[in-house]
Amino acid sequence: MKSGFRIYDTHTHIGTAVHSGQTYTASDLLRDMDRAGVDRALAIPFPVVEDHRAAHDEIGRAVLAHPDRLAGAAYLPAFLAEARFREEVRRCVEQYGFRALKLQPQYQPVNVFFSRSDYIFETALEHGLTVVCHTGSGVPLSLPSLFMMPARKFPGLKLVLAHCGGTLLALEAVVAASFCPNIYLELSSILPHQVLTVLAHVEPSRLMIGSDLPENLDAEIGKILELSVPAETRAAILWDTACRVFNP
Ligand SMILES: [Zn+2]
Repeated sequence: MKSGFRIYDTHTHIGTAVHSGQTYTASDLLRDMDRAGVDRALAIPFPVVEDHRAAHDEIGRAVLAHPDRLAGAAYLPAFLAEARFREEVRRCVEQYGFRALKLQPQYQPVNVFFSRSDYIFETALEHGLTVVCHTGSGVPLSLPSLFMMPARKFPGLKLVLAHCGGTLLALEAVVAASFCPNIYLELSSILPHQVLTVLAHVEPSRLMIGSDLPENLDAEIGKILELSVPAETRAAILWDTACRVFNP
C-alpha cells in the first residue's frame, strides 16, 4: 500500500538472466515490495534462462510460501516440442498454481501468424492462464498489433501487452486494445504523457502497472500515483485490473 492505494506489480522477474547476468531472488523481490509498498506481484522467469524448469521451481516455491504476495508465470523456450511445452505448463499450474504464460518475442521467434503457434494460446486457455506478451523492443515479432490475431482467434483468452508497446509503439498498443476487448495493457516503460493518451482511448479496467526491473519500481509507481486523473482510475491501474485478471 502506498499513498492509500494497494499495488499489484504485474511485471517482475525472479531468477538469473543469462543475457544480462542479473540475479534477483524471491527474497530480493519481497524486500523491494515491502520497501516500495507493493502488495502483490506477478513473478516471471527472465527471458533467457539456463533451465526453465528450475526457473519455474524457484518461482513456484516462492508462490507457495507467499500466496498472498506472489503469483507465478511460466515462460518456455521457443520451439520446445509441443508435448513438452504443454506438460511443463500443466506442471506449473497443478504444482504451483501459476496464473500466466509469458511470451518474449524479442528472444524467441514466435510468429503469431503461423498456426503452428496456436498451441501456445490453446495451452493458456486450457488452464485459464492469461498470456503476457512482451511488446516494443524486438520488432517486428513484438509489434503490439500482431497480438490482435490471437486475441481475435481466441476471444476467451486474456492477453496483456507488456510495456504497452514501449515509448515508440505505445499508440499501436492503443489501437490493438481499442479493437480487441480481450487485450489489456501493462504500462511499464512508457512516459506519463503517453499514459494519459492511453487513458483517453482505453478504459482503466484494462490497464495495469508493471516495473519489469527493480531499478524501475519507484519510478513506475510514482508515474501512476502522480497522474492527474480520478482516484478510481489510479486504483484500477495500480490494483483492481490486475486482481481481476490474475487472481479472479
Ligand atoms: Zn520483463
